[in-house]
Amino acid sequence: MQAVQVDRRQQLEQERDKLLRKLVLLREERTALAREDVREGGGQVDESADSATGTFELEKTTALDESARRRLYEVEDAIRRIELGTYGRCEQCGRPIDRERLKVLPQTKFCLECQLRWERNGKLRRLARVA
Ligand SMILES: [Zn+2]
Repeated sequence: MQAVQVDRRQQLEQERDKLLRKLVLLREERTALAREDVREGGGQVDESADSATGTFELEKTTALDESARRRLYEVEDAIRRIELGTYGRCEQCGRPIDRERLKVLPQTKFCLECQLRWERNGKLRRLARVA
């Protein structure tokens, strides 16, 4: 394995551990929020304002959880590609991905050019859906 890949692998594994810890924390937070909801629901006092805040917090942690999960998937996917020996190659055009780009974004599977094209298409699709 090339030295560069060893570096990227360490970086990715650290990122994976960080994300796993974050997901545990978020789950604890959600459990705590859910418990609060139950308590509020059973009470006689009108706490609708608090409850709305609780719902908002719950939605926020759920959104954070989803983005952490998505990122975790990308990171694990990149580690898998290192193991398979396909890491560092653009999945779209097959050209090697810029080294500096991999340093900043080790989980990426597209070269900058393909990424930009993909994002542009994604945006176009989203706009089309809205219209
Ligand atoms: Zn490409």
